[in-house]
Amino acid sequence: MDFFDPVKYSLQENKFFLKHLGESPVSILKENLPEWVNPTAVEEVLGAIYQLEEERVHRGWNWAGKDAVKQSIETYLTEWIRWKEMSARGAPRFPTMHAWDSRGRAHRGGIGSDSRRVSTYFAENGDRKTFKLPLRDTPVEGFVPSWVRPEEPLPDDLKIDMESQTAACPLCGWSTNFKGDSHSSLNLARSRVAKHLKSSREEPDRHRDLWQKLFS
Ligand SMILES: [Zn+2]
Repeated sequence: MDFFDPVKYSLQENKFFLKHLGESPVSILKENLPEWVNPTAVEEVLGAIYQLEEERVHRGWNWAGKDAVKQSIETYLTEWIRWKEMSARGAPRFPTMHAWDSRGRAHRGGIGSDSRRVSTYFAENGDRKTFKLPLRDTPVEGFVPSWVRPEEPLPDDLKIDMESQTAACPLCGWSTNFKGDSHSSLNLARSRVAKHLKSSREEPDRHRDLWQKLFS
C-alpha cells in the first residue's frame, strides 16, 4: 500500500483504524470486529501501517508516520460531519463533487471537481486538498544526487593579463593580444573575446551564457 485514502473505507472502519493505529493486525483480527468493519480493510490498512512502523524501527526506513495517518482520518471524519450538517441546510451532500463559481453556485461534475467519488476537501482558503496520503517518503524537492556535478558558476570577467598583454576567455583559455598602454586596444581585444564567446563551438551554451552575463 503506497497511499492511505480514508475515503475508501467506511466511517466505522476509519474510527476503528484511529483506535488501533500501529497495533498488530494479527492480534486485532483475533477479537470480534465491530459491525461494518471489514477484516480485509483492517488487514490492508493496519497491516501496512504495522509493517511500515516495523521497518522504521528495525531498518530506519522513514514513512509518513502514524500521526499523519491519524490526521488524515480526522480530517476526513471532520469534513464528513461538516458536509452532513451543510447538506441539512441545503448544500450538496458532497461539495467537492462540484465546481463552485464565484457566486457560490455549485456545478456538479464541473471542471476541477471530484469525479466518481469524493477525493478532496476544501481548505479554509478555498483550495482543494486531497485526502489521499502518500505513505512512503517522497524525494525531497531540489535534491541533487551525488553523481550529478553542480555546474560551476560563470566567471565574473575575462582574464585580462596586463603583463603578457592578453585578454583570454576564462572558460577555454582562447586569448588575444592588446597593447598594454592603450585603452582602446584593450577594448578591441575585449570585443574579440566577446565575439569568441558568441561563436565558440566548444561548450557553446556556457560560452553564450557568459557572453550574456558580461556583454549584453
Ligand atoms: Zn572560450
